Amino acid sequence: MTEFVIDPPPAPTVPVTGNVTGNVSGGGAFPVRRVYCIGRNYAAHAVEMGHDPDREPPFFFQKNPSNLDASGRFPYPPRSADVHHEAELAVFLRSGGTDIPVERALDHVFGYAAALDMTRRDLQGEMKRAGRPWEIGKAFERSAPVGPVHPASAIGHPARGAIMLRVNGEMRQQGDLGQMIWKVPEMIAYLSEYFELAAGDVILSGTPAGVGPVARGDVMEVTIAGLAPLTVTVT
Ligand code: MN
Repeated sequence: MTEFVIDPPPAPTVPVTGNVTGNVSGGGAFPVRRVYCIGRNYAAHAVEMGHDPDREPPFFFQKNPSNLDASGRFPYPPRSADVHHEAELAVFLRSGGTDIPVERALDHVFGYAAALDMTRRDLQGEMKRAGRPWEIGKAFERSAPVGPVHPASAIGHPARGAIMLRVNGEMRQQGDLGQMIWKVPEMIAYLSEYFELAAGDVILSGTPAGVGPVARGDVMEVTIAGLAPLTVTVT
């Protein structure tokens, strides 16, 4: 057996819940391999970010597996003065492959969770203007708060239903999963043309309109129909 030359880093995991209350005791843990995020997947959000909402091919960026965080706390990150919330449905794969047909894509889904794609918008904007990669704005520590994973075997595959984000009780983002430009099976099929998807992969499916800044002390609450809410305090 190979001896590690340093202590192996802990494998990132997300707790799994057996019921819609989000109680994770006995639910087990989902081990994370990769995190893909789709951009501009709700027309109203594409418009608010200054883009044409027509159905262009989807585009993706990645976060790091260890950026997922189920602690319920989001430490305000350094080097930014404009950190935004993006409420998103997270999709967890139990298997994968390449060139997955749309009509078989949901067979690969283990489950779903409410999540946040936290964004250093100022740094992302600088990178966009310079034509540079987005990691500095997107893939920072604890940038993907996530709620418990609901197995599809328990809740099915949510294709419509409200997705909302409140900050300190005030509604900020409001949409419907049915408004996604690229539906979950389509994004899995598309990604699998470019990457070999596998068990442990997570896809953040884009955010509805209403993104905006948070401050220390704010309490963000993501609610998605049929899933346990995700409550996160900015610290
Ligand atoms: Mn996003």
